[in-house]
Amino acid sequence: CAKQRNDGAVVYDALIDKASEKNLSLLTELRKGIERDEFRLHVQPKLSLDTGRVVGIESLVRWCHPERGNVFPDDFIPFAEQTGFIRVLTRWVLEQSAALCRDMALRGIHLKVSVNLSTRDLLDQELPEKIMDILRRHQVAPGSFCLEITESAIMDDPVRAQQTLERLHALGLDLSIDDFGTGYSSLAYLKRLPVNELKIDKSFVLNMENDAGDTKIVRSTIDLGHNMGLRVVAEGIESEAVWRLLAALGCDQGQGYFMSRAIPGEQLADWIGQWRA
Ligand code: C2E
Ligand code: CA
Ligand code: CA
Ligand code: CA
Repeated sequence: CAKQRNDGAVVYDALIDKASEKNLSLLTELRKGIERDEFRLHVQPKLSLDTGRVVGIESLVRWCHPERGNVFPDDFIPFAEQTGFIRVLTRWVLEQSAALCRDMALRGIHLKVSVNLSTRDLLDQELPEKIMDILRRHQVAPGSFCLEITESAIMDDPVRAQQTLERLHALGLDLSIDDFGTGYSSLAYLKRLPVNELKIDKSFVLNMENDAGDTKIVRSTIDLGHNMGLRVVAEGIESEAVWRLLAALGCDQGQGYFMSRAIPGEQLADWIGQWRA
C-alpha cells in the first residue's frame, strides 16, 4: 500500500510537471505570438434590429499560429487571464480596434467599437489612462468605444471592479454587461454599476423561436434593461425568425451568424458596402 502511494505520488508529480511545462510553453508562445504579429483582429457587425443598419462592431481576437493554425479565443483567453498575459493582449486589441475605428471614420463610416475586458484588466489601476492614451493617439472619441464586461469578471472583486468602471464611465466610455443572465451578480450590481448596455447571452437567443422558456427570459431581460434606461443587445442571432422575434420584443441591437460571423477587420468596409446594397 505504501509503495502504491509512492508510485501514485511519482506519477502525480510527473503529471504536474508535464502540465506546468505545457503551460510555460504556451505562455512563451503567446509572448512570441505578439512579437511575431500572429494575432488578428476580427470584428462582428452589430446592427440596429429596427432599421437593419450597422451601428457598431465587436472586436474578437484570433490567433493565427504557425503550426496550430487558427486558434480560437476559448482555447487561449482563459489561460491568458490566469497568467496575466491578457493585459498585453487587451492592449493589443484596444490599439487595433482604435486604429480600425479611425480608419472607418475617415471613410465616413461611424461605428461604436466594443472591446472585451477580463477580470485582470479591471484590476489594473492604470487601465483608464492606458485606454485614454490609445484613443488620443488614434484620434478616437471615448464615446465611440464600448467596453464589454461579464458579470463573473465583476463578481471576482466587485468593489475594485466598480471603482474602475466608474472611472471609465466618467471618461465618457460606454460600458456593457456581457453574457447577461449567466453570472451570479445580477440585480443588486446592475442597479449600482454605471452601465449603458445589457447583452443577452446567446444561450437564450440561439433557439428562442422553438423554446417558449427562452423567449420569456429574453422578453423579461429586454424589459428589465429598458426599465433601467439601458440599450439591450442580443448575440447569437442565427436566423431571420429570431431577428424578427427580437425586433418585435423591442430589442435594440443584435449580432449573429445570420448577419455575419466575425470577419477580418480589413474586410469590414466591403462587408458594410455589400450589406447596404
Ligand atoms: P463573447 O464576448 O460572448 O463573444 C461572442 C462569441 O459568440 C464570439 O465567439 C462570436 O464569434 C460568437 N458568436 C457570434 N454570433 C454567433 C452566432 O450567431 N452563433 C453562435 N453560435 N456564436 C456566435 P469567439 O470569437 O470564439 O469568442 C469567444 C469568447 O472569447 C468571447 O465571448 C470572449 O469572452 C472571448 N474573447 C474573444 N476575443 C476577446 C478579446 O479580445 N479579449 C477578451 N478578454 N476576450 C475575448
Ligand atoms: Ca463580448
Ligand atoms: Ca457575450
Ligand atoms: Ca461569452
